[in-house]
Amino acid sequence: MYAPRQVASETIHYRTCPFCEATCGLAVTMRGDEVVSVRGDEDDVFSHGFLCPKSQGLKQLHDDPDRLTRPLVRRDGELVEASWEEAFAEVDRGLSKVLAEGGRDAGAVYLGNPSAHSLGPMIYGPAFVKALGSKNIYSASTVDQMPKQVSAGLMFGAGLSVPVPDVDRTDYLLILGANPLVSNGSLLTAPDMRGRMRAIRERGGKVVVVDPRLSRTAKEASEHHFIRPGTDAMLLLALANTLLDEGLADPGALAEHANDAERLPELAAPFTPEAVAAACGIAAPEIRRIARELAAAERAAVYGRIGTTTQRFGTLASWLVDVLNYLTGNLDREGGAMFPLAAVGQRNSTGDGPTGKGVKVGRWASRVSGRPEVFGELPVVGLAEEITTPGEGQVRALVTIAGNPCVSTPDAGALERAVEELDFIVSLDIYVNETTRHADVILPAPEPLAKAHYDFALYQLAIRSIANYSPPVIETADDQPQEWETVLRLAAIAAGQGPDADLGSWDDLVVQTLIGREVGIPGSRIEGRDAGEIIAALAPRRGPERVLDFMLRAGPFGDAFGGDPDGLTLTELEQAPHGIDLGPMRPRLPGVLRTPSGKIELAPEEIVADLPRLEAALAEASPNGHMVLIGRRQLRSNNSWMHNLPALVKGKDRCTLQIHPDDAERLGLADGGAALISSSSGELRAPVEVTAEIMPGVVSIPHGWGHDTPGLRMEVASQHPGVNSNLLSPVEVDLPSGNAVLNGIPVEVTAADREPAVA
Ligand code: SF4
Repeated sequence: MYAPRQVASETIHYRTCPFCEATCGLAVTMRGDEVVSVRGDEDDVFSHGFLCPKSQGLKQLHDDPDRLTRPLVRRDGELVEASWEEAFAEVDRGLSKVLAEGGRDAGAVYLGNPSAHSLGPMIYGPAFVKALGSKNIYSASTVDQMPKQVSAGLMFGAGLSVPVPDVDRTDYLLILGANPLVSNGSLLTAPDMRGRMRAIRERGGKVVVVDPRLSRTAKEASEHHFIRPGTDAMLLLALANTLLDEGLADPGALAEHANDAERLPELAAPFTPEAVAAACGIAAPEIRRIARELAAAERAAVYGRIGTTTQRFGTLASWLVDVLNYLTGNLDREGGAMFPLAAVGQRNSTGDGPTGKGVKVGRWASRVSGRPEVFGELPVVGLAEEITTPGEGQVRALVTIAGNPCVSTPDAGALERAVEELDFIVSLDIYVNETTRHADVILPAPEPLAKAHYDFALYQLAIRSIANYSPPVIETADDQPQEWETVLRLAAIAAGQGPDADLGSWDDLVVQTLIGREVGIPGSRIEGRDAGEIIAALAPRRGPERVLDFMLRAGPFGDAFGGDPDGLTLTELEQAPHGIDLGPMRPRLPGVLRTPSGKIELAPEEIVADLPRLEAALAEASPNGHMVLIGRRQLRSNNSWMHNLPALVKGKDRCTLQIHPDDAERLGLADGGAALISSSSGELRAPVEVTAEIMPGVVSIPHGWGHDTPGLRMEVASQHPGVNSNLLSPVEVDLPSGNAVLNGIPVEVTAADREPAVA
C-alpha cells in the first residue's frame, strides 16, 4: 500500500482535483487535520503540476465555517441541527407520505453538476433513481451538454461516445463556443489547455476560435471570429456546404463505416456561406477560407462546447461538429477528433458487424408540456410546471443531490416560487443555498478530502487513457456517513424499507447487478465468467472501492480477473499516487460503434428533422435584430457553488453585464454604471462593463450568481451576490435534446435610471 510522504509533522497527499473536468493532480500538504497548502503535483502523469485557482477550494472548503457537517431538519419553520437518525426518520416520514399519496411520479430528483465528480452519486445514484421509480428525473445535463450526448448517441450509438479533439497531435483546431482556457476543457478532459494550445501553434499549427466574445481562449488563438449567438449550426452547415460543393470532402476510409453520406449535400444545400454570412456575422469568403484550411490541414479537429449546446439549435450544432470531422477525414484519426478509451466504463470490442442497440429518445414525455425524455431524464425547464400544475403525477416532493436548480435553471423566478409550494424537499448538500433553504431536511456530504475519488465519467472524455485513484485523506466529521451511504439510505427509504435498512445488502445488489450485466455481454472481457467467483475476488472491499475495482478489472486495461496478469487493478492504482498513463487515444472504429447498423449514422432522422426550423430561423435572421444575452465562464467560478470561498470571490465584482462600446454609447450606458436588463421572463439590474471584447449587439452575464436571497447561510457569497442571469432565461429548449436555451436570449437593455423597454 502506498504511504503518503511525511515531512516533519506534515504529510503530503496526492489527489485528483474534484472541481472540474480537467482532473489535475494536486499535492495537498496536511498538518494533522489542517490543510497547509494545495499545489500542483509535478509528478502527476496527466497534469504535470498544472492547476488553476479553483484548486484552492480544497483548503477553503475544509476551512469554511458555513459548510454543513451535521444534518439540518426544519422545525417550526427553522432549519435546525439534528442527528442523522432523526434526519433520516424525517426523510422517511416526508418522502414516503408524498409517494403513498401521489404515486411514484410525485417524487422528483434533481442531480447537480458536482454529482458527476463524486463516486457516491455516480455509482449509487442510479439505484436511488430506480428505487424512486419516478419519471420526474432532472439534472444539470439539460442546462449543459445534453445536445452533444443526443447527437453522439444517435450517430455513434452511445451518449458518452463523444469524439474529443486530439489536441496534442492536431495541426488545426477549430473551436466554437468554448473557452477551455477558463473552463479547462469540457467534454474534453485535458489539463493545461493553454499549454496544449500554445504547443499547436509552436509546431506550426493553427487554432481558430469562433465565439461572440474575445475570450481568453480566443486571445490565445491564431485567429478569432465573432459570431452571432445561436447561429453556429448555420456556420457549420456553410462549412460543410463549401467542402461538398468545392469537392474538398474526403472522408477516406471512414466512408465504409458510415450511412447516409449521400444525403449531406442536399441537407447542406440551403446553407451556403453567402446565405448564412449576415445571420452569423462572418463574411462568406472567410467561411470558405476556413473550410478550405480545414480540408487542407494534415490533421484537424472541430470542437464545439457550451455556446453550441445551450442554444436553440444545440443538437444540430453538435451533430454538425462531427459531420465536419467526418467530411474532412479527421474522425477517429490521430490528430483529429477521436473516441477516448477509459479504463472504466468502456469496452474495446473488435466490432465485427452490428454492435449495439443504439439510443432512443422520447420513450416517454413530460406530463404537462409533453417534452420528450432523453437518456432517462426530462428537461429541467419543465420542473416548475410539473410542480405547479395539479393532476395525477404532480410533483409534490423534490430530492436534490449536489444541485441548486433555483439558480442554475431557466426562468429561475418561476422555479423558486414553485419550490415553495412543495410538500417535502430533501437535499444532499453542503450548503444552505438558494434551493436548499427551502428544504425540510439537508443531509451534508463529506468534504472532498474525506471522500475517495476517481473521475470515471470524465476519463471517458480524456485525450489520454488515464487512471488515478485518490483515497480519503481525513475522517468524516463525527458520525457523518459517507456520501454513498446517504445515497443508498435514500434509495432504501424510496423503496419503502424505512430509515434503518441494511445498506450492506443494497451495496451487494449494486455490485452484483453490474457483474451480472458484464458477464452476460457478448465480447465482454469477463463474458460467461462465474459471478460468485468475481465477488469473492473483490473481497474484502466494500462500497465504491469494490465497484471501482470491479470496473477497472473488467475494463479494457484490467486484469480480467486472471485473464491478464499484467492488467490493471485498484490495488495497483493505490500504489500509484500520481496516476497511471495508459497512452494516447487510438483509433477505435468500428468497435466503438453501438448503433444497430454498426455504422456511423450521418443523418439521424431525429436530428435532420430539425433542419427546417433552422432554415426558418435563417430566413428570419436579421443582423439588426434584438440585443441578445449570452453567459460566460469564469476562471474562479464553478457554476453556482464555489462563491462562498474567499479566495475565489475576492477582488472586483466579476458578475457584470459586458457590452460593446458602440452599444453602450447608443444606450447611454457607462462603464461602472448600472443597467436594467429585461427579457420575456424577468428583469434584473447589473453593473456595466464596457468592453470591445464582446460582439456588438450581444451582452453577457456569467451564470451561477445571485446570492442575495434571504435565508442563505453562505456569508461570503452573500457579500458578493452578483445577479442571477437565469431570471432572464425563458422556458425554451433545443427541440431534439430538451436542453435549455441559455445563449442568444433577446433582451432589452437600458440605463438603470430609465424605464426598461418591454421585450
Ligand atoms: S483546472 Fe479544474 S481540475 Fe485543474 S485545478 Fe482547476 S478546478 Fe481543479
